[in-house]
Amino acid sequence: MHPLDLIILYGYPPLPSHYRLILLTAYNSEPQIMVQGNSARRKELAAGRRQDCKDEIERKKAGAARVTPAEARARLLDFGTKNSAKSSMIAWSVNPTSSSASCWCAAYFRDGACPRGKRCKLNHEESIAHLACPSAVFAETLPALVRGQLEAVQAGGKLVYNSKLRTQRREKSSLYFVEYNNALVFDAENPQCFEQWAAGVTMQKKPEEDNDNAVDNATVGDGGGGPDIKIHIGPAPLSKNERRKMKKESTQSKPPK
Ligand SMILES: [Zn+2]
Repeated sequence: MHPLDLIILYGYPPLPSHYRLILLTAYNSEPQIMVQGNSARRKELAAGRRQDCKDEIERKKAGAARVTPAEARARLLDFGTKNSAKSSMIAWSVNPTSSSASCWCAAYFRDGACPRGKRCKLNHEESIAHLACPSAVFAETLPALVRGQLEAVQAGGKLVYNSKLRTQRREKSSLYFVEYNNALVFDAENPQCFEQWAAGVTMQKKPEEDNDNAVDNATVGDGGGGPDIKIHIGPAPLSKNERRKMKKESTQSKPPK
């Protein structure tokens, strides 16, 4: 214990009051440093939160290339509803009832063949090798998955407040793959997979795209409609309705696909 502590605690030797004040100030020097440390930490946390916001904006700007599993699921289901194909969208998500001991072999699941062959200790039961998909770089193992309707599966991966970091962090998502029309349209480990599907859908939509669809695209893609305006600009300034009419006529004259 510091000798100053004793003086303050026991008030001995008796000191004039202004002395005690000086001593108390000296004693308090340590807590003051701590306060400074806290403010530095607060600044650091605030900077972290600002960076998180920036990252999230960047992510949203990137559109289909950086969707979260939940966003991909929502967009697939939206497409499914509009094209009455919802029931043929199949999800592979983490099996909540299985223990972590029974990991799946990612190579076997994806390609139907495993470089380790019979020496592989991972589960070789299920495979999606028959589905068309872009090649991916992937981890060696997968958690035990379960196949089910995309509509019935929650993707998880919500933003949750982390009290230690004092900001939101995304939880791990349980959605790993989505298959539709004999193709893989979502792969949690390969963003290209969903991006390709989304690009394909946009291409199909183009001929009969109207303003409503352009707005719809913008919800995920952000900034849709730009090239659309360029294509349909007429020689004279036309009203919105006139332009729409022209667009309709031009698409009708094209041979149907
Ligand atoms: Zn294997």
